[in-house]
Amino acid sequence: MKVSITDILSGRVRIVWRRRRRKAAVTPETERLRKEAKAYLPVRLKELAEAGGFSYNSVRIKNNVSNWGSCSSKGNINLNLNLMRLPKELQDYVMLHELCHLRYMNHGPEFHAMLEKLCPNHRELRKKLREYRLT
Ligand SMILES: [Zn+2]
Repeated sequence: MKVSITDILSGRVRIVWRRRRRKAAVTPETERLRKEAKAYLPVRLKELAEAGGFSYNSVRIKNNVSNWGSCSSKGNINLNLNLMRLPKELQDYVMLHELCHLRYMNHGPEFHAMLEKLCPNHRELRKKLREYRLT
C-alpha cells in the first residue's frame, strides 16, 4: 500500500508505533544473576511477606530494563534479576515496595504510610536506588 502524507494528515491512515519490548540482552552475566536471583529472591520475598502479613499469588524473575519490580492486581509479583547487583537493604526495599502494592495499587498516602511502617528509611533507600541503573 502506498501512503501519502495527505493520507496520514487526514486521518485516513494511522501510524502505529509498536512499543519496543523493554527486555535486556541475555549474556553469561545475566544468566548467572538469573540463577542467583531465582535461588534467593523468592525465599526472601516469602520471609518479608510473612513478617508483614502479606500473601501474594506468584513471584517471577524478570530481566527487563524498565523496573526493579512490579505487582499486578492479581497478586503476581515480578522481580528484576538485577536486584542481585544491589545491596541487601535495597533488595528488601524493592520487595517491600511491591508487597505494599498488594494492598494499594498506587503510590498514595496509604501506600506510603504502610511502606513507612515496614521500612522507615524508605525515602533514603529510594534515593540510593537511583544511583543504580538498569541497562
Ligand atoms: Zn510502586
